[in-house]
Amino acid sequence: MVTLTAVHGDITTQQVDAIVNAANNAMRGGGGVDGAIHRVGGPAVLEDCIVRFPDGLATGDAGWTTGGDLPSRWVIHTVGPNHAAGQRDRSLLTSCYRRSLEVADEVGARSVAFPLISAGIYGWPKDDAIAAAVETIAGAATRVEQVRIVAFDEATFEQVREQIACAAEAGVGGQ
Ligand code: ADP
Repeated sequence: MVTLTAVHGDITTQQVDAIVNAANNAMRGGGGVDGAIHRVGGPAVLEDCIVRFPDGLATGDAGWTTGGDLPSRWVIHTVGPNHAAGQRDRSLLTSCYRRSLEVADEVGARSVAFPLISAGIYGWPKDDAIAAAVETIAGAATRVEQVRIVAFDEATFEQVREQIACAAEAGVGGQ
């Protein structure tokens, strides 16, 4: 079973096998966490995106590149639904977590850090973005052993921690 923990901080500093990027369909970098990951990962991440994803990536799907200069060996890129632009299908958001863990299994990553996909520029309501992350990760059939949800600000971190504790009490994983 996955051990799920909340972390307050910057995902680009996480010492894990793979970090997940909240990318966009074009897969050529962007703002928010995507910009931070490309900045710290360096040009190798973008070069790999171009080679491995010539046509970009569909919403709800995931795929990997090198981690470049990041502490993590892989970046798993996933594209969340853009709530702000009217994409409100929740199964696309849960698919991001499921597909990312499948890709982690493909490369053999045992520890993975996620940001809160779609919860920034894409405007998914924070409470539900956290609920979707926690319930999908806790319920996933995966060989990944440790998952961190990395929250950038203190208030979000507290919310993530509470939801993980609730899920653990309900017996669906967590710590
Ligand atoms: P999206 O376009 O999918 O909404 P964003 O990057 O705008 O993606 O935001 C996703 C989440 O990542 C937000 O909760 C935002 O606060 C958070 N975030 C932004 N930068 C970082 C970072 N360096 N580390 C961790 N989380 C981050």
